Amino acid sequence: MTVTSADVYERFGVQRVINAAGRMTMLGGVALTEEVAAAMAEAGRAYVRLEDLKNRAGEIIARLTGAEAACLTTGAAAGIVQMVAACVVGDDPLGVEQLPDVAHERREILIQLGHWVGFGAPVAQMVRMGGGRPTPVGLANSVCPEQLALSITAKTAGYLYVQSHHTVHHGMLSLDTCIQICHERSVPVIVDAAAEEDASLYVRMGVDAVTYSGGKAFGGPTSGFILGRAALIRGCRAQERGIARPMKVGKETIVGLLVAMERYLARDATKVAAEIARQQQLVNRIASGLRGLPGISVTSRADEAGRAIVRAAIAVDPATGKDAAGLARFLTEGPVAIYPRGHRVDEGFVAIDPRPIDDRDADLIVERVRRFVGG
Ligand SMILES: *Cc1c(COP(=O)(O)O)cnc(C)c1O
Repeated sequence: MTVTSADVYERFGVQRVINAAGRMTMLGGVALTEEVAAAMAEAGRAYVRLEDLKNRAGEIIARLTGAEAACLTTGAAAGIVQMVAACVVGDDPLGVEQLPDVAHERREILIQLGHWVGFGAPVAQMVRMGGGRPTPVGLANSVCPEQLALSITAKTAGYLYVQSHHTVHHGMLSLDTCIQICHERSVPVIVDAAAEEDASLYVRMGVDAVTYSGGKAFGGPTSGFILGRAALIRGCRAQERGIARPMKVGKETIVGLLVAMERYLARDATKVAAEIARQQQLVNRIASGLRGLPGISVTSRADEAGRAIVRAAIAVDPATGKDAAGLARFLTEGPVAIYPRGHRVDEGFVAIDPRPIDDRDADLIVERVRRFVGG
């Protein structure tokens, strides 16, 4: 499941870290499986007509997810740029060449104000890169259907829905409502679903295009893809001769993503159960390693968002004069930096996400926690 030995980073003088936080872009996304890494290495050693590979990759991803068509991108951010460009100029060669300048007024991309967020870069900036004019709908904490309906004019090129923990989660219109209002007025609905796990859901709901990161839920290399209606996907692909040229996807990446997607979508109940058992074993290993340590207690916690993940919550008793925030800091500042999930230190614990770690990492975490208490 994980590949955590990577001396190559040390060779170039960069400190390797132990990721016990989850799928963090900041820490390099996902460690590739041996199978994905090997497929990428093999792809890198031969020549291919890139156009053939891209066409075939799109067909395969579309078939795997049930979409009409698909194309690969460098990530979901590029996916937003290309979906917007497709809404604004389609595959018109002159329009493609002129972007991000646009000669016509029909270029507004509507976004509910609570979705006007950043994911490390502003969503609205990605819209502008694609030639769109980001146009807010409603207020930061409330949007009503009339506000969306009245925002649609002859200048509207599309509607962007952002599905993410980064957005405001109350007072916004549901995706179903947005689709209904937009489609009644022939406005395409595009979705940023970067970190989502269900690769068929949005297409089934009837959106016109949706983009995902390949390197988040699906365990692929740094990459992404767009699913959607054939005409829009043609528009997305057309940008490869324009603004998407600096977002070029290489042959190794395409092959790595294909293998990762095949594996992800073929995983069955047995595989999911085996991974949960592996996680539970790691949680138990940490718990037994820390048993009896004064001021420390370890419990097993299910994922808050209901995904199939169990984590080790390491609580620090404040009566010891130490606290969970101190433990999180101590772990990241050690000789090998260990990054736990620290978002709930205020509640008295740090969590260890077992997905990216192995037994050796678990033992190192135990050793560091023991040192924190003892030293
Ligand atoms: C991560 C993320 C992105 C960017 O995805 P990349 O694949 O890194 O380009 C865009 N939108 C949201 C909501 C994200 O979480």
